Amino acid sequence: MSSPTSTPTLSGPPTVDQPAAEPPALCSGAARSEVARHLQAVLDLSDPYPVVNAARELAAGALERALADVIAGRLLHEPTGRRIPLQELPARTIAALTRTHHLDADQSDTLGFALRCAFAWPGVVGTPDAPYALKSVLPAGFAPIATVEQIAASQATAGPDGLNTTYMISQMKGGMSADFGIGCPLMCAYCYRREGDTVDGYLGSWEPTGFLEPEDVVARLLSHPWFTPHHTPIGLHMSTSEAFLPKLWPRTWRALQLLDELGLTNRVSCITKYTLSDEQIDCLESLVHVDLDINVCYAAMPESIEPPNRGRRLRFLRRILHSDKINVLAYYRPIAEGLNTTDAHLRHVWQTFKDADARTVVLGGLKFADDHVHSFMSYGLPLPAGSFTPGKKLLTAGTEARIMAAFDEVYADVAPNWRPAVLKRSSCGRAVERGSHIPDYNGHYDQPTTNCRLRCPAAQHEVCAAAQPPDEETVRHLLARIGKPDARVDITGTTVVVHAELSQFERTFLRQNLLFPVHTARQAAELVAARITR
Ligand code: SF4
Repeated sequence: MSSPTSTPTLSGPPTVDQPAAEPPALCSGAARSEVARHLQAVLDLSDPYPVVNAARELAAGALERALADVIAGRLLHEPTGRRIPLQELPARTIAALTRTHHLDADQSDTLGFALRCAFAWPGVVGTPDAPYALKSVLPAGFAPIATVEQIAASQATAGPDGLNTTYMISQMKGGMSADFGIGCPLMCAYCYRREGDTVDGYLGSWEPTGFLEPEDVVARLLSHPWFTPHHTPIGLHMSTSEAFLPKLWPRTWRALQLLDELGLTNRVSCITKYTLSDEQIDCLESLVHVDLDINVCYAAMPESIEPPNRGRRLRFLRRILHSDKINVLAYYRPIAEGLNTTDAHLRHVWQTFKDADARTVVLGGLKFADDHVHSFMSYGLPLPAGSFTPGKKLLTAGTEARIMAAFDEVYADVAPNWRPAVLKRSSCGRAVERGSHIPDYNGHYDQPTTNCRLRCPAAQHEVCAAAQPPDEETVRHLLARIGKPDARVDITGTTVVVHAELSQFERTFLRQNLLFPVHTARQAAELVAARITR
């Protein structure tokens, strides 16, 4: 990247009308993009502090002192040497510096901008001065694999749950799923990734097939107009397979390395019923940028229904929970009435999690459809009880209450503050497990009586309650990326109301970028009506 011919300043040159004590106003608009180019010219992903130092040289007064503190305290890194994810900087770094140096709102905003310059911005979206906008100039050497319009069109062909088997990058509820191929040999009888097949697995085969190379998957992600560097939660193989199968591990690991080498601090999730060796865990612990979470599923499901080896899986859960570099969630799922919900089952699962020192547990019910009924019957398996709605996980309030009663029994000798968090939603669990620095990225706090009633820590409740509405420019940048640049928008203290049709995936995309609830006008009216009649 070439340096500009003249050095821009964070504060701008002092003039008669504009004293040097008022720097940030000059950083908005076009001037800020020029400053960003200047600062990013010295970006080295292995050492971001020269960028901060370059920003410091352009600043004055309290802002200069705040930037000096970032360098002196290495405030872009955790003590383990990992980068603090960009999304967490406002809570972990900027808020404290703002208080310490009495920065006003504009100075604090400028500090955030300067620190964003110390992060890489690969792909078609985002620059330090406009993190949510499609780029007008692509990074040198980067060629998207298809146009934004072509990729958006392929997203429109996704299935009812968002899975895009054409492009293999899909906007799902848990984040953007990057899928390499289709198939999983573990043969869980309740697997819902069978696309209408009965006993024969994915598209007629349980064997993973048609893998993409990791380089191709990452290029697809970077080319996707819905992928925001450092913001979009990513799932690897979340929709079509199992990340740690021996056949898939090399691809999973390579993709993680590629994301890490790009300097991306996005949250990345891998959900597993498989295991990893100590050497493989060492690999994961060596990641510096990527903000990984591993979600280990265990619900004491009979092995006739869920074959992956339980003992090995639980040893792996115990082992990886002792890593100080990896976020680990105990996934208590699937819970299926009649299959794994006797009192003995419930106590056993909680005892298992207690023995493993689980910190964060996420509950989840079972999705069950007509083809599962045929499949279970053909295998001679017992059917789960309950009334299932297609595409929805079932976990009744009664079962949930019994689960929590068993929790209280098993953890009776543990002080409440030392008991694990128990959440209903994965996105909540991921926020809590990372230390409660950002609100739930799916905005579930818009319905607290439904979503927040288990054991979410007080600190996380406070963070969710304090979530700030976005500014309209950010919302506009995001709406442009889903082809609705002119949709009317109302931003209130509790939600962003978009006066246009939004698919559930578009709404998820908006919510996950804004970290704030988003509703269509009709949904907002229904929410208000429900509160009035409650
Ligand atoms: S407060 Fe509610 S929405 Fe926020 S993380 Fe906790 S359970 Fe989720």
